[in-house]
Amino acid sequence: MIRTRQLAYRYRQGPALSFPDVEVPQGGVLLLAGPSGAGKSTWLALAAGLVRATEGQIEVAGQALGSDVSSFKSGAALDAWRARAVGFLPQKLHLSTALTVQQNLAMAQWAAGQAPDDQRISAALTALGVQDLAGRKPAQLSGGQAQRVALARAVLLQPKVILADEPTASLDDDAAAVSLALLQSTAAREGATLAIATHDARVGRHFAENSSQISLQRIQIMRHQL
Ligand code: ADP
Ligand code: MG
Repeated sequence: MIRTRQLAYRYRQGPALSFPDVEVPQGGVLLLAGPSGAGKSTWLALAAGLVRATEGQIEVAGQALGSDVSSFKSGAALDAWRARAVGFLPQKLHLSTALTVQQNLAMAQWAAGQAPDDQRISAALTALGVQDLAGRKPAQLSGGQAQRVALARAVLLQPKVILADEPTASLDDDAAAVSLALLQSTAAREGATLAIATHDARVGRHFAENSSQISLQRIQIMRHQL
């Protein structure tokens, strides 16, 4: 579940951004559309609790993250919540080049303070169809394979919310369709809410054609007028 009210964020040396209200039930899909520079990635950072809103409220997977909240006692508590509740598929995948696929996922468990769990890693890789690549380094993966590995990592800890930033940015039409179907089916399998930030019109079309079973909300983030 994701809910926002009058959410706004002002960069110290940058624009003041404001966002339309959203209310997405658990398991629903949210599309954040809008041109480059409109504030889509900033919205994802707010939803992940990576930055604190300047104004307004935002609640993600039962956790209030808005401007008026003092419920987070420390950065460590926020980090622990994020590790548990949020799966992030960043625009740049941030796989560690020195580590194998297996080790990249183990690192995510370690960073979340969890004991190594090879079975869970294997299950996540298998669900994304990349279990045979566990021993490879990121440089030995195609773009599509690397994205599957990053998605396996995003859902490794069974998050309540998956945040994807421009998942189709560098993909051709066929690969983009595969990537979106994979995101959608992965979120559905995990019962996770899916939020996708994109300036790619293909994403809106994909979900318009493939979302009859789910709650779909789309907001348009407008570029800030100075
Ligand atoms: P989008 O993801 O929609 O392309 P972003 O959320 O990345 O947009 O950025 C929104 C606006 O905030 C842009 O105008 C961008 O230049 C500005 N911005 C992003 N990060 C910073 C920062 N750290 N400091 C100042 N301005 C920033
Ligand atoms: Mg962006």
